[in-house]
Amino acid sequence: MIKNLIIKNLEECYNDIANISKNTQIQIVSKQQNTENIETIIKQGHLLFGENKIQEAKLKWPYLKEKYSNIKLHFIGSLQKNKVKDVVNIFDAVESVDRYSLAEKLDLYEKKMNRKLKYYIQVNSGSEKQKGGVSPEECINLYKLCKKNLDINIVGLMCIPPLNEEPSLHFALISNLAKELGLKEMSMGMSSDFKIAIEFGSTQVRIGQKIFGPRSKS
Ligand SMILES: *Cc1c(COP(=O)(O)O)cnc(C)c1O
Repeated sequence: MIKNLIIKNLEECYNDIANISKNTQIQIVSKQQNTENIETIIKQGHLLFGENKIQEAKLKWPYLKEKYSNIKLHFIGSLQKNKVKDVVNIFDAVESVDRYSLAEKLDLYEKKMNRKLKYYIQVNSGSEKQKGGVSPEECINLYKLCKKNLDINIVGLMCIPPLNEEPSLHFALISNLAKELGLKEMSMGMSSDFKIAIEFGSTQVRIGQKIFGPRSKS
């Protein structure tokens, strides 16, 4: 039953997005979902996923990545430096780069482990204390510093707009900032606001609840 619902939601999501844009990827956010639900999605041919907790990802994804090839897994949570090794090992992209010391460590471990990931700088466009990310001004400095000193491949920006604000203002800001820096990728838009994000040029939306139904608070 839940399996059919997940498949139906996934189809609906693909259709909704295809109606607005041909250039937006869907990242299915599988946090708090068991491997059975995740495999339901994979068996539909969907391969791009996101997780926000290392511990949880370590329990699910080494097995799934071994079983199914070509899966891409993005890390979208806040990242402590002592978890960098695990992240570089399991994930294919990190969307929450928000300080130089973290970027340095990611660069170091990529080289040590002979891995190559994609990176997004997370922009805290609403200046919220509880959220990760840099201010738009800091973002420019961080990007330039990483470009100059490190080999990590920064492909774009990521943002999570404040809950009670008009998301379009934040998406517009990210879009301008990405343009200014010459970055092609914008990871923005979630279940509640993905259509608006796509209007502002999002290249990747991150969708969880629209596929799996409401989550308990994480
Ligand atoms: C949980 C999460 C999402 C997905 O949110 P939904 O409301 O389930 O679509 C997207 N981005 C980040 C960073 C998340 O933590």
